[in-house]
Amino acid sequence: MKILKIKLPLPLKLALLLALLLPLITNGQVLKKPIPDKLVVLTFDDAVVSHATIVAPLLKKYGFGATFFICEFVTPPFTDKTKYMTWEQIAQLNKMGFEIGNHTQNHTHVNKLDSVHLMAELKYIEDKCAEYHIPKPISFAYPGYDTSPKALPVLKAAGYQYARAGFDRVYDPEKDNPLVMPGYTMLDTNKVLIYGALKQAKAGKILVLTIHGVPDTAHPWVNTSPALFEEYLKYLKDNHYEVIAMRDLNTYIDIDKALTIKPLFKK
Ligand SMILES: [Zn+2]
Repeated sequence: MKILKIKLPLPLKLALLLALLLPLITNGQVLKKPIPDKLVVLTFDDAVVSHATIVAPLLKKYGFGATFFICEFVTPPFTDKTKYMTWEQIAQLNKMGFEIGNHTQNHTHVNKLDSVHLMAELKYIEDKCAEYHIPKPISFAYPGYDTSPKALPVLKAAGYQYARAGFDRVYDPEKDNPLVMPGYTMLDTNKVLIYGALKQAKAGKILVLTIHGVPDTAHPWVNTSPALFEEYLKYLKDNHYEVIAMRDLNTYIDIDKALTIKPLFKK
């Protein structure tokens, strides 16, 4: 070590050494155990009715875990039960063993909210969960993938451990703060992108997938057709992927240490 040969007071030398070594030590501790290759987190946004009628039974058939991010959309309105789940159906997903996550009360983009209003949007979904005997969510998904540095302390204070954004890249738990978790969005139109992303789930990187309705009659531009969705599930099964809910990342990640990673708000 060159700095040991430079004439500096001993405490300063030690401080410099510590500054050099600390990031290495800290990063090493983020993981409780190594991330296996082919680890995929499945997430479903917007409380679309097909999550209860089509997605959940298919996931059960394949033995996969998943997180459902719930909000009450304004347009088209959440009261339209031809398009969205009822809270009874959401409670049923929890009973089936799936994770229920928070996607804000009204799908409000967090960069348009001050901390008081973000807290209120989070609390609305938390109160609904309590009413329907669903555990308090620890996972969050940013509506419209819009992030904001100001949202992080609010999410942290409210007990959130994971918050999924967009970015179309794989999640590196040693480099990405779990409150700005990158993911890919599955659509009917991006098979090449998604199969390419599935191949990147290796060497410590995790693929987090965002899926909307299967099908999505509320927001057809984010549709995934049931046939394509099952094609992906079959691919995951045949190729021995481990498919989990976001909260299951706690098996691999020391969340307190991971939350100290400097957040990156871009691709
Ligand atoms: Zn959404």
